[in-house]
Amino acid sequence: MTIKLLAIALAMLAVPHGAVAQEASCARERAAMIEAIRAHAQQDKTALPQGISEDVLKVMAAIERHRFIPDGNCAVGYADRPVSIGHRSTISQPFIVALMTHLAEVAPDHTVLEIGTGSGYQAAILGRLAKQVCTVELVAPLAVGAMKVLGDLGYDNARVRVGDGYQGWPECGPFDSIIVTAAIGHVPSPLIDQLKVGGRLVMPLGPPGNVQYLTVIEKTGPGETKGRIVMLVRFVPFVRPKN
Ligand code: SAH
Repeated sequence: MTIKLLAIALAMLAVPHGAVAQEASCARERAAMIEAIRAHAQQDKTALPQGISEDVLKVMAAIERHRFIPDGNCAVGYADRPVSIGHRSTISQPFIVALMTHLAEVAPDHTVLEIGTGSGYQAAILGRLAKQVCTVELVAPLAVGAMKVLGDLGYDNARVRVGDGYQGWPECGPFDSIIVTAAIGHVPSPLIDQLKVGGRLVMPLGPPGNVQYLTVIEKTGPGETKGRIVMLVRFVPFVRPKN
């Protein structure tokens, strides 16, 4: 009887121990991802003379990216590469996520909008940096998956909506910054309308299916904008639903 109880106790200990070891390995992979982002930023001194903001890196070092990908594998989750999440959608490479977040210049009192929720990973980062994040996804199963993971991980300042992000989310704005994570050849005017003066829109501008210009558009006054190109990127298409 005693031996049987001991065996059960040992079996119970074995499970959490395995899980703890895996979490430790994921933490190492995550730390390596942050170093890879730093190294990548170093190579791009023209686009990033000051490197990526430490606040952004700190938040990315704490968020479990592997929880946002289909099989939760840490070797895949923390490589500096995009990851496919189904429905022809991908989470961008960590360096690009870090760069776009950096360019959005998010502060703790900000309300921010993301177009293209995908897995919810970019929204999670914005959720840790801003007061409120609103994110719109065209593909319902992706939006539902993102809502679940963001809810499970306790992001109660993230609102997810299914819809065409071209229209933005007026009821959630106006926004201090907007990040678009799908490629489109022009700037959707509703997004500029919903941006505060002094706010920034960060987006891949250019034809889908090829490379685009990662662009920062600053709203300098009512009806006035100023744009700058940061680098070439490759994003999945911004889809316009047919009415
Ligand atoms: N930011 C995401 C990755 C997004 S990939 C992440 O962190 O995981 C781009 C996403 O944009 C895809 O999920 C795609 O379905 C979505 N998308 C494409 N066109 C859209 C539109 N018109 N409105 C909202 N989302 C759109």
